[in-house]
Amino acid sequence: MTDCVFCRIVARQTAADIEYEDEHVMAFKDIYPKAPVHLLIVPKRHIASIAELKDADAEVIGRCFLAARRLGEAKGFGEKGYRISVNTGPEGGQVVYHVHFHFTAGRQRGHGA
Ligand code: 5GP
Ligand code: ZN
Repeated sequence: MTDCVFCRIVARQTAADIEYEDEHVMAFKDIYPKAPVHLLIVPKRHIASIAELKDADAEVIGRCFLAARRLGEAKGFGEKGYRISVNTGPEGGQVVYHVHFHFTAGRQRGHGA
């Protein structure tokens, strides 16, 4: 069994509240939400970090943003807006080394630091 928690969620070996899924992408609720809506959008294929992206990953990364748009619309934030953020590497605050896009919504946000 893989030791990557997000690969285990994608394989349904670990439980998660899945909110979106297609052939290439999955989105599920963050276990420790930091906003009224806090989802994690992940490529199903394991990519450790933005720092390890390859040209061949371009399409699946684009599909993560398309999933964000769909989720934003489905949850009623298409007009109000939402935030998408990616932590990368130790000083970028990345804890789980499977690329994930934090989708947060439901409160006013200015520029993050
Ligand atoms: P990072 O700091 O790597 O960008 O964020 C990792 C995120 O994954 C955190 O917000 C954390 O709450 C979330 N997380 C960690 N383990 C699990 C898990 O097992 N299930 C879910 N749903 N979220 C997790
Ligand atoms: Zn993984």
